[in-house]
Amino acid sequence: MWKLGREEFGTKHFSVSAKGELIVREGNYQYNIYELAKRFDTPIEIVFPFIIEERLNDTLDYFKYYIRHYKYKGKFFFFYPMKANQNKEFVLPILSEGGHLETSSPNELWLVKRMWEQGRFSNTIRVLCNGPKTNEYLFLIEELKAKGLDITPVIENWRELEYLRNYRGDVGIRIEPNVKVDSHWDKQTDQFGLSIEDIKTIGRLRNLKMISYHAGSQIGKVEDLITPIRKVMSLYVKLKKTNPQLNLLNIGGGFSVNYEKNRKLYSLESATKKIIKTVKIIADKAGIAHPDLAVEWGRYLVAPAQINVYRIIAEKEIVRQNGNDNKSGARIWSFIDGSFQTQLLDTWAIHQKWHVTPANNMLANKFKKVWLSGCSCDSDDKYTNGGSYILIPKIESAEKEGINDPQYVVIYDTGAYQDALANHHCLISSPAKIIVQNGVITIARERETAEEVGQLYGW
Ligand SMILES: *Cc1c(COP(=O)(O)O)cnc(C)c1O
Repeated sequence: MWKLGREEFGTKHFSVSAKGELIVREGNYQYNIYELAKRFDTPIEIVFPFIIEERLNDTLDYFKYYIRHYKYKGKFFFFYPMKANQNKEFVLPILSEGGHLETSSPNELWLVKRMWEQGRFSNTIRVLCNGPKTNEYLFLIEELKAKGLDITPVIENWRELEYLRNYRGDVGIRIEPNVKVDSHWDKQTDQFGLSIEDIKTIGRLRNLKMISYHAGSQIGKVEDLITPIRKVMSLYVKLKKTNPQLNLLNIGGGFSVNYEKNRKLYSLESATKKIIKTVKIIADKAGIAHPDLAVEWGRYLVAPAQINVYRIIAEKEIVRQNGNDNKSGARIWSFIDGSFQTQLLDTWAIHQKWHVTPANNMLANKFKKVWLSGCSCDSDDKYTNGGSYILIPKIESAEKEGINDPQYVVIYDTGAYQDALANHHCLISSPAKIIVQNGVITIARERETAEEVGQLYGW
């Protein structure tokens, strides 16, 4: 019923205990989410770095396997786009498992500088810098290059092209592939990169090493991961003639996460296989060397590595009325002790639907349909704008709002994008953040106090 323990839904680590409580397994360790919620109180965000490590290793392994299988001559690099989640407990495991980094802003690059200075960086780690570049960003890139970091700025526009012609290292160029793919962005073109037509006119660029693109996020079909590759590879083949040092094709982000868990998505294996095969065929046909390959799959890597746990603090029935004032059905609203609009902003921004289950009473034999509401004073603070119910256990003895034995709910796959988009609407505090790894439970961040929130507003 809850679609737990299923690889194809990205829930293979989750299960329900004999007492009807949500369990997460990491090898021989297991963690009881209901117990954690009681111990640390809610709202909490629980981070599982082992899930990030596993997903990264699976990706590296599949690429390695199919590179050998197809006798592909290029190498593979996984660049983690830091904008998906910049928290330390997300970034450090990626570095230690062989991931490289991609930044979207000078402040993310400043974090890279910190890690470099603290010796958390091996010399084999590469950094790509995307995003429109302010002077501050360009100067920091040059500073880190001079200090010996393997750092490649990705050219976004003509100004950067002129500026970076004399850069003392490799550069990349971002292409707007102008391909319509079934994705979150749902539009054919965006404001990033240079058009294919424009790039054909740049001629020779001494230090051009990579071309990259980003076709969209949450790409729905495996064919849509492949179509832009075909288009961009034909440009790669042309550019390679005038720029023989070019040797890296970066296909950007967009690998999907199964948020709703209502159908199977394409698998990592099938995508890997198709990517390598597609590039190989085109390169062989054109008689050029197989390029090294890179991906920047952010959401894929980190979304499933965090859950948010809330407690239901109140419930009430509201009768909806139509224009004639006749009853047209009642809705049970369940209020959580956190907020969608401040902590899971995509609920509001892009009507994201999340997989939601209880954390306790999971073996109940009756369930009720409820509509979840956040605890801010904003009518948009609900799951989800547009309306969608979830099922929670119907417990006779807990009918009085569960004061002594609260009902907890879990929202899955919250590890990508929500943290940096989070805000303080109604001055609601950020939740506590807990890390669970190797049988050890640590508090990464305490729940924000009223005083800390007040300080942000000059109080
Ligand atoms: C946002 C972004 C990504 C990551 O996209 P996901 O959908 O999280 O995989 C990768 N590359 C670039 C250039 C981006 O802007």
